[in-house]
Order: sequence, then C-alpha cells, then structure tokens
Amino acid sequence: MRTVEPIPDISIVLPVYNEAGSLPGLVAELTEVLTQLGRRYEIIAVDDGSTDDGVAVLRRLQEQEPHLRIVQFRRNFGQTAAFAAGFDYAQGDVIVTLDADGQNDPADIPRLIEMLEDGDYDLVNGWRQNRKEPLLTRKLPSMVANWLIANTSDVHLHDRGCSLKAMRRDLVKQIHLYGELHRFIPEVASLIGVRIAEVPVNDRPRRIGQSKYGALSRTPRVILDLLTVSFLLSFSGRPMRLFGGAGMVSSGLGIGVLAYLAGAKIFNGLRYGEEGFRAFRIGTNPWTMLAILLTVLGVQFLMMGLLGELLTRTYHEAQNKPIYFVRRVWGPPQPSPQEET
Ligand code: UDP
Ligand code: MG
Repeated sequence: MRTVEPIPDISIVLPVYNEAGSLPGLVAELTEVLTQLGRRYEIIAVDDGSTDDGVAVLRRLQEQEPHLRIVQFRRNFGQTAAFAAGFDYAQGDVIVTLDADGQNDPADIPRLIEMLEDGDYDLVNGWRQNRKEPLLTRKLPSMVANWLIANTSDVHLHDRGCSLKAMRRDLVKQIHLYGELHRFIPEVASLIGVRIAEVPVNDRPRRIGQSKYGALSRTPRVILDLLTVSFLLSFSGRPMRLFGGAGMVSSGLGIGVLAYLAGAKIFNGLRYGEEGFRAFRIGTNPWTMLAILLTVLGVQFLMMGLLGELLTRTYHEAQNKPIYFVRRVWGPPQPSPQEET
C-alpha cells in the first residue's frame, strides 16, 4: 500500500541556476537545521533551466533526503519565476525562501519562523549583517535602491536584496510576481496589506560558482522595477490621479503661455500694416513652440490617464481580482463571498 505523506508545516523554496557545486552542502545544512526544529518540512528546489548537472545532483541528494522535491523548468525563466513556481508547489503553512548558492545561512531559519509565528507577522525579512560583497558594485547600489524605495513606499526595510525570508502560506498564495519583482516581494505584499518584521541574519561569501547577475547591469533594471512598484503602490487603482494631474499641470502651463502671447500680440497697440507690426511675432517665437508642446503633452497625459482607468477596470473585472484582501474572519465559519461567485 502506498503511504500518504503528511502535509508539511514548513516549505523551503530554493531557486537553482547552475549551483551544482553548492547544493550538496546546502541541502545537508538544511536537513540538519530542519530536523533539529522537529517540524514536518519539505525542500522544493526549483531548477531554473540549469546547464550544469544540477538536476542529477539533486536526484542523488533525494536518496538521502526524501523531503526534497525537484521542480525542473524547461528553460531559464529567471529567479522570479523560480520563486513563483516554488510558491505554487509549496504545501507548508510557512514558506521560507533562500538562495541556493549558500550565501544565506540555514541556521537563521528557526529564528525567522519563530518571529513569524510568535509575532503574528505575515512576512519576516532577513537583514544581512556584515555583508561580504564588494562595496562599490554591490553594497552601494543596494544601499541607494533601499533608500529610494524606502522613500517611495511605506515599507521600512533595511535590506531588500536578502532572499532569506519567511512568509505565511495565505500571503504567498495571494500575491503575483512578474518580471523581476522577486526583489520587491515585501512591496508587492504590502499592496494587499501585511505585517512585516525584520531579523538580522548572517551573510556568507559565495564559495562555489559565480553570481548570475552582472556587477552593475542590474542597477538600471532595479531602478525601472522600482518605478513600476512605486506606481503600483500609489496609483494602480487610480491612474487618472497621476496622469490627469500631470496633464492638467502641463496643459495649464501651455494654455497660460498661449494666452500671454495672444494678449501681447493684441494689446501691444500695433495694427496690421502699421510700422513695427513685425516686432512681435508669434509664429517663430520659441515660447509658442513650448506652449503648443505643453498643451499637446497635457492632452496626451489626460488620455493616458483615461486609458489607465479603463485598463484598471479590465484588470479587476476580467480576472475577478478582488479590490480587498481579508486577513482573517472572526466568527462562525461561512463561505467567503469571494468563493461563492
Ligand atoms: N537564480 C535563478 N535563476 C536565474 C538567476 C539566478 O534561479 O536566472 C538563482 C541562483 O541560482 C541563486 C539565486 O537565484 O540561488 C541568487 O542568484 P545569485 O547568487 O547569482 O545572485 P546574487 O547573490 O549575486 O545577488
Ligand atoms: Mg548569491
């Protein structure tokens, strides 16, 4: 008879891209920490289209560690997709993510879980102490990005680049990740309303293999993602506020300048045919150009806002996306209105 595995309490999600060298050590460390914790667990390794023998290594590790599950991608889809797949397959009530290169220390996991459960948080983020990475190419861009997003959102975290996180299952199932938004899980989560805490964690140098991201090439992409996230955070429900505001300012300025030019033309006292009529010409005046540009731009912004409003409605209605998220219902059990439909 086939034994039914009990559902795990804790799911560990590892995004793996060409990390064959690091996997045996990491899985051994995880097994040790999780066994000591004494809870039911699973380790989900998502192989993101590795070109090394990572999957073979994982299959071998499975013989010693039956809690290891391998999800193999057809090709490299990126770290965000790897996390998203891990979340889809995870069964535990608590989901812990960490990098597969051994930079995050599995020994920190129990403290994260304790904070999550005892403090009734939805997400506990690691905060890497004494980071081992180079200052100029890694730490500095990361500090700038953290400072920027701290000022555009009300999620106050010190270290967004830390993959080591513990989250509750219901949170993970309610968020959707696209592009490279895995760096902004706390911000995406804050869209639905979450309680977030931070726990200092150990940072270790990468011993085997190399980083999958170019030293500086990631900075501009992170800044663009930051723009997306801050837009989503503040205006996604009401794009007209942003675009309409910009449109009103721009076309207001444009119309103002045009009115001034027209006034100057009419009231400077010269009539057609009079000597000096040509002294004030509107046609070739650079201010006219500016005024027209601003007015047209303003109209464009307003139209963009209207299109945005339409898209927002399609987004929420076509996919049945709720405009609210419930943390918990206190009282006798009833089907939720969202499930009824
Ligand atoms: N990773 C992935 N898919 C990718 C790139 C990276 O699954 O396309 C994984 C990688 O194997 C590692 C984690 O994401 O477990 C973080 O990558 P890396 O260590 O290269 O980033 P860094 O620590 O340099 O920021
Ligand atoms: Mg790394």
